[in-house]
Amino acid sequence: MDIYEIINDLYKTNFAPREELLFVLNNIDDESKKYLIEKSHLTRMKTYGNKVYTRGLIEFTNYCVRNCRYCGIRAENIKADRYRLTLEEILECADIGAKLGYKTYVLQGGEDPYYTDRVMVEIIEKIKKKYPDSAITISLGERSYESYQKMFKAGADRYLLRHETASKELYDELHPNASFENRRNCLLDLKEIGYQIGAGFMVGIPNQTNENLVEDLLYIKDLNPHMCGIGPFIPHEDTPLSKEKAGSLDDTTTLLALLRLLLPSVLLPATTALGSINPVGREMGIKAGCNVVMPNLSPTTVREKYSLYNGKICTGDEAAECRKCIEGRINRAGFELDMSRGDNIEWKRRLN
Ligand code: SAH
Repeated sequence: MDIYEIINDLYKTNFAPREELLFVLNNIDDESKKYLIEKSHLTRMKTYGNKVYTRGLIEFTNYCVRNCRYCGIRAENIKADRYRLTLEEILECADIGAKLGYKTYVLQGGEDPYYTDRVMVEIIEKIKKKYPDSAITISLGERSYESYQKMFKAGADRYLLRHETASKELYDELHPNASFENRRNCLLDLKEIGYQIGAGFMVGIPNQTNENLVEDLLYIKDLNPHMCGIGPFIPHEDTPLSKEKAGSLDDTTTLLALLRLLLPSVLLPATTALGSINPVGREMGIKAGCNVVMPNLSPTTVREKYSLYNGKICTGDEAAECRKCIEGRINRAGFELDMSRGDNIEWKRRLN
């Protein structure tokens, strides 16, 4: 097999069989990586141009009933300093976001039963009433079909639920008392209800193999989500994985570029985790095909507490500084910030 040929075919057909994807992951070197990034960049220029969409991230609760072994806000971490934002506080974040020009809010949190359907519906309706032109993304983990439906009817547009890993074995190892199948079914439910959905996975989780990562790529290709979050695993000191090694920038950008080729119109965020393992991680992500950034809109008083992993960036900056900082980074990397809703282009095409 020839790696350049595989990448070129992938660029032309947006498809590659399992063995070829595995061959790329096993054999990529500096030169072929350059070629891969070039093709990925060309693909994103054809679909989204040099635009990078911006979402305002509101981390509104770090209470969580789950015990994901990698995550700093897992229920069993008694050291986590827990907080919940009130409806008023969430609306304040949205107001600040609106003044800065944001047209998408991402409400993310642990799986926190305090936020019942009724509470979520009120939050979503209030934001939507005030900012009808803005998109609302929810990222609150696994809930029932009915719950997802109620939030959708209230005005939620998108839902982020990373599948975390497409290997059942690895998934079960990492998520005590959770169901691999249920998480996947949630994604199907969300899609059926009408959400723009976001799946995604971590790179470099302990015991993860290249075969596992190929599984992730093929699962995403098949699911065809509107968005896909890919970030490196980073250890958190108060978790069972505290002593493990973090995922690398290089591996993550390879997977981002491959995914851009497999799904040319997917929305790909340059994640905070990527920016946290390397000072120019997000810029490298954007060059590898990412077209979304999610600056933080959470009150600075709670930023440190939403600690999923160690060394998370931007925990001290006000929303306005985050907005300015990210714009500078995007421009210096040769791209342009786009403050519109930033819908998936395929989704938009189908609407019209
Ligand atoms: N409760 C929501 C949101 C989870 S936090 C849900 O279940 O979807 C958002 C994402 O952060 C997770 O999906 C996971 O992929 C990522 N994450 C958590 N801990 C991490 C770590 N230690 N390193 C890197 N990413 C992590």
